[in-house]
Amino acid sequence: MADAGHKPVIYERFAEARPVGAGLMLQPAGLVALERINCRGCVEALGSRITRFRGWSAPDWRQLVEVDYSQLSGNLYGLGIHRASLFGALWQATTTRGIAIETATEIIGATPAAGGRVRPLCLDGRHLPCVDLIVDASGVNSQLRGIVGASPVPSPYRYGAIWASLPNTDFARDMLLQRYVAARHMVGILPVGQLPASDTPLVTLFWSLRPEDHAGVLAAGFETWRDKVAAIWPEAADLLDGTVDFSAFALARYAQFTLRVPFAEGVVFIGDAAHSTSPQLGAGVTMAMLDARP
Ligand SMILES: Cc1cc2nc3c(=O)[nH]c(=O)nc-3n(C[C@H](O)[C@H](O)[C@H](O)COP(=O)(O)OP(=O)(O)OC[C@H]3O[C@@H](n4cnc5c(N)ncnc54)[C@H](O)[C@@H]3O)c2cc1C
Repeated sequence: MADAGHKPVIYERFAEARPVGAGLMLQPAGLVALERINCRGCVEALGSRITRFRGWSAPDWRQLVEVDYSQLSGNLYGLGIHRASLFGALWQATTTRGIAIETATEIIGATPAAGGRVRPLCLDGRHLPCVDLIVDASGVNSQLRGIVGASPVPSPYRYGAIWASLPNTDFARDMLLQRYVAARHMVGILPVGQLPASDTPLVTLFWSLRPEDHAGVLAAGFETWRDKVAAIWPEAADLLDGTVDFSAFALARYAQFTLRVPFAEGVVFIGDAAHSTSPQLGAGVTMAMLDARP
C-alpha cells in the first residue's frame, strides 16, 4: 500500500517485537509475494531452502510421503524459516518505507464515519483517527470478524502440537521430515535456518497432541515425554540433549474456517483473519502473503 502511494498505519497489540513463534514453511508463491516487496533475498538469507518432504510410518518406518519440489517445473522450492526471522525482514521493509507503526494498540472494533470512512476502536476505549480502509490482518482470533455478520466460529482441530526451535545437530537442512504412529502421534522436524544475528542452524521440532492432553504430558514430566520421542525417533530425541524441561516448548491449537465474504463497508480481512487451516499443510503464511501481495 505504501508503494502504491497510500499512507498506511500499522496497529499492533504487542508493546514490542519479540522473537516468538514456531518455525514456518513458506511455499514458492509466498516467496514470489516477498519478491514483489523486495524482501525475498533477505528472507532466503535467513531460511533453509526445503527441496524434499519425507514421512515414515510405524511400526516398520515404511515411507509414506515422498514429495520433491524438483518434480515440478521451474526452480521451485519451499523455505523453512523461524517466524522471528520472517518478522525481522518484514519489519525492515516497513521501517525502510517509513510506515507508521503504533504498538500496544489492540483493535477490537470499527465504527462507520462520514463519507464511507471508518474509525478503528481500541481495547482501551479510544477511537483512532478515521481511515478509508481497515485491513484486518490480526490472525485467527480477529475481533473485527463480527462486522461481517454471520462470521463462522473457527472450529478447533482435535490435534494441536507442542513445538520448540532447537539447534540442528545432524539433520539435513533441505528436508521436512515426519514420523507417524497411526494417526495418534506425529513427530516433525523442519529446518528453519537461523535467527537474525546468529549463525546457529535451527530446526523446529513438532509433537502432535490433543490440547486436552497437554496438562497430562507436562505433569508426567519432561523425561517421560523425551522417552516417548526417543521410542519413535531416537535421533529426534538427541535434539533434546541439553534441554531439561518444557520451558522452550509452546502449545499450538489449530482451527479451520473460511469467511464467505471477507469484506464489509470500509473493512477487508486477509490472512488467518479471513481463512485459517491446519499448519500441517504449510500454507497459512503463504496464503496470507498472497492476500497482501501487490
Ligand atoms: C505451531 C504453528 C506452526 C505453523 N506452521 C506453519 C507453516 O509451516 N507454514 C505456514 O504457512 N503456516 C504455518 N502456520 C500458520 C501461520 O502461522 C498462519 O497462517 C500465519 O501466521 C497467518 O498470518 P497472519 O498475518 O494472518 O496472522 P498472524 O501471524 O497471527 O499475525 C497477526 C498479528 O496481529 C496482531 N494482532 C492480533 N490481534 C490484534 C488486535 N486485536 N489488534 C492489533 N493487533 C492484533 C498479532 O499480535 C500478530 O502480530 C503455523 C501456525 C502455528 C500455530
